[in-house]
Amino acid sequence: MKSVLYTCPFVPAEWIAACGLDPMRMTPERAGEGMPAGVCPFAAAFIHAASTTNACAIIVTTVCDQMSRSAEIIEARCETPVFLMNVPATWRTEEAAKLYRDELARLGRFLEDLGGAKPTPEQLIETMLHYDSLRAKRRADDETARPKGLPLILAGGPLRSTDIEIFDLIEQAGGTVVLDATAGGEMTLPAPFDRARLASDPAGELADAYFARIPHAMRRPDNQLHEYLNRELTARGARGVIYRRYQWCDTWHGEAGRLKDSLPAPVLDLVAGDDESDRAHVLTRIQAFVEMLK
Ligand code: SF4
Repeated sequence: MKSVLYTCPFVPAEWIAACGLDPMRMTPERAGEGMPAGVCPFAAAFIHAASTTNACAIIVTTVCDQMSRSAEIIEARCETPVFLMNVPATWRTEEAAKLYRDELARLGRFLEDLGGAKPTPEQLIETMLHYDSLRAKRRADDETARPKGLPLILAGGPLRSTDIEIFDLIEQAGGTVVLDATAGGEMTLPAPFDRARLASDPAGELADAYFARIPHAMRRPDNQLHEYLNRELTARGARGVIYRRYQWCDTWHGEAGRLKDSLPAPVLDLVAGDDESDRAHVLTRIQAFVEMLK
């Protein structure tokens, strides 16, 4: 089966699968040399992976300016077709919701041109139920994992596969991540599907579960992100939030100060560069944060 590569949480895997293609959501590795100046490390990693993929297509979204620009860079570097999906920052208006639904329809036509097929409502429902059950299992598994150290939420921008080491650093410092609220973690899973709506309007339910329900720093207004973290802090008994963002990322930078004000627990604002030698410094800061919370 042909694979379609993407990384953004606003791209519904079940829509790609229902169209008969293989959704390949990837967590990119650190990019090597040769990236244009001023590209954020995550966007650079995605560009690097996308430029060398054997997928039949790449989906990039307008989640931030860096990602929008990535689509142009990838197109200039490889022959693989690139679909730039518009994800509006505003999410409360009917116009914005319609725009997102129209983008899914446009994506569907793009996938048909690649050899996919428009799904029947029954096929879409079946695929959605399958993915919904996989996500329910993932949530249940996360809930049964018992914290060994001080319970913390890890929030912020997306992680590359080379950044996942931060979970180990937090454990070394005496903490445990009870919620991955980074862009790509549990926070950005779509909402469970409403079964009644699923039966009558699967495409509408799919669009709403993603577009109307996923918290993200790019959303305007941004209250979803704040409300989600407030709610989960209490629900998970977390004692603090480690907020990790890239030095060059305006999207997640913009929320750092506001989260410190709005959350009822201490926030460690961890600004990551692209240098792997930062590790010791990061560990020291996390250790100091955990000690302060004990
Ligand atoms: S980390 Fe920030 S700048 Fe980089 S792709 Fe994500 S939102 Fe955009």
